Amino acid sequence: MTSPGVQDASDALKRVFGYDSFRPGQQEIVEHVVAGGDALVLMPTGGGKSLCYQIPALVRPGVGVVISPLIALMQDQVDALRALGVRASFLNSTQTFDERRDVERAFLAGELDLLYLAPERLQLESTGRLFDQAKIALFAIDEAHCVSQWGHDFRKDYLLLSTLHERWPEVPRVALTATATEATHTEITERLGLAEARHFVASFDRPNIQYRIVPKNSPQRQLLDLLRTEHQGDAGIVYCLSRNSVERTAEFLVANGVPALPYHAGLDSRTRAENQSRFLREDGLVVVATIAFGMGIDKPDVRLVAHLDLPKSIEGYYQETGRAGRDGLPSTAWMAYGLADVVQQRKMIDSSDGDFAFRRQQSIHLDAMLALCETVTCRRSQLLAYFGQRDTPPCGNCDTCLAPPESWDGTIAAQKFLSAVFRLKNERNQKFGAGQIIDVLLGKDTEKVRQHRHDQLTVFGIGTELGEAEWRGVVRQLLAQGLLGVEGEYGTLVLTEASGEVLGRRREVLMRREPARAAKPAKAAKGARSAAVVELPEEARPLFEALRAWRSATAKEQGVPPYVVFHDSTLREIAARRPAALADLAGISGIGENKLNKYGEGVLAVVAGEG
Ligand code: ADP
Ligand code: ZN
Repeated sequence: MTSPGVQDASDALKRVFGYDSFRPGQQEIVEHVVAGGDALVLMPTGGGKSLCYQIPALVRPGVGVVISPLIALMQDQVDALRALGVRASFLNSTQTFDERRDVERAFLAGELDLLYLAPERLQLESTGRLFDQAKIALFAIDEAHCVSQWGHDFRKDYLLLSTLHERWPEVPRVALTATATEATHTEITERLGLAEARHFVASFDRPNIQYRIVPKNSPQRQLLDLLRTEHQGDAGIVYCLSRNSVERTAEFLVANGVPALPYHAGLDSRTRAENQSRFLREDGLVVVATIAFGMGIDKPDVRLVAHLDLPKSIEGYYQETGRAGRDGLPSTAWMAYGLADVVQQRKMIDSSDGDFAFRRQQSIHLDAMLALCETVTCRRSQLLAYFGQRDTPPCGNCDTCLAPPESWDGTIAAQKFLSAVFRLKNERNQKFGAGQIIDVLLGKDTEKVRQHRHDQLTVFGIGTELGEAEWRGVVRQLLAQGLLGVEGEYGTLVLTEASGEVLGRRREVLMRREPARAAKPAKAAKGARSAAVVELPEEARPLFEALRAWRSATAKEQGVPPYVVFHDSTLREIAARRPAALADLAGISGIGENKLNKYGEGVLAVVAGEG
């Protein structure tokens, strides 16, 4: 393969990648790095970070070295680049000695544009010698937040990255991440020595993602409904916290006709790799996974990311939801969240082995997550504020914007509940969970109530103005606001210092009332059709489907994921425009020179066949 031999950045953008224009922020970053400057790039998932080092690597003399923790994805990343005509390879521990030797030879011979490297290879002096002998265009440090202990993906090997600048000071470095809280930003800057670098902070908004958080009652059913009504045939990722619930949810989906695969650390590595690879290669699969799945998965057409359990931090949640809709098409981030989540997570933090600072950090993360769940204002505004972008107007594309929940004065309800917690605790110092306390407030005649003589208490039956579900909402919000605590292995409820302020009438409590009907997306009428075809005119749909079928076959033949051939967005544009000649095809976004040569005739034949 010969080098694409680009003249400058805009030439690379058009001829190699087939894109008409840079996305916001990209051009400045590219120009800065091409000129040899160091950069720290904070950009949301799907924002287009890769181009920010790939183009400078093509324009500058020498090889661009990309440090990435995503070993399992290197093959796919390299395949995608090669499909564009870029000479890319990788070095990591999955290769045989001979394979690595071949790559090193190509590297030294100047036959590579980009080399992906696992961070642990920096420990080896042989890597240092290799770098000494070749011209290096730049170091790109992908997933740079892995250097941060405050964040959620710390990798010890990332600490080695500080040596890059010491040993090769003349090589520009560009560090990139989608995690951008102030704490992480500061830590990356310090640990990678990027104080002098230019910092590019993009907007973290992902406008095509619709955020929705619903009360959890039967999560698997709720998920199935969502898949059937809005995401039939779409690729999706469903996150659960435990392996067990991953397995059960995947089985449930399969039993109900949704093609789904499990992914968690308890599966052997072959099954994991196979399931990940099927997800990337087949259309319309749902992967049910623990959080271990998905970093760096650049499958652009994931239409749904669902959380069946509360994530542990907003950083994690935002990265996971960011895996939806990288292609810019409408996508959904949906979460079911309930009282048990709060209790369980508080309990986990309480009983963790970590030291005080660690537990405190976890609980700050959890509080921010709970505040998002219980907000009565725009979810997106709140998320963006968390990443430092304050005062953005309501987005119009999240559940609270689409169906605003009311807030209500829950002070009296809070007082009733807290006094019940207090009374039940006094009773022989036994402590009870939320269920029993709610039964008492509702005046229920259960065996447990009689056994503990809770029907004798003054709080018995004083809460009948609310239903059971509403009481659970009250408890959730008290926990979220720190007005109630959780203790011990059974997760019993206890009063906190702040509870006293409510009981002593020194503090009012505002609560969120769930809207009667859950928010439906603006285009609810689309029915059971795949979201990817929604905005196509009716008459273009058969062609779009035909192109997808052609893409599947082509991808299979070449052993690459379908999106490496073309993205959905490119196929949609072809279907809408019906190009008749190669020259017409060349103008479509996502079709660079290499792909035009390779696939142009094939695509035109499909278009002609559907005419
Ligand atoms: P990130 O690494 O920030 O998550 P990627 O680099 O994977 O994002 O880019 C996300 C998607 O956007 C990819 O599918 C990529 O091909 C596409 N993309 C990036 N830059 C552009 C551009 N200038 N024009 C059109 N599409 C782009
Ligand atoms: Zn909103």
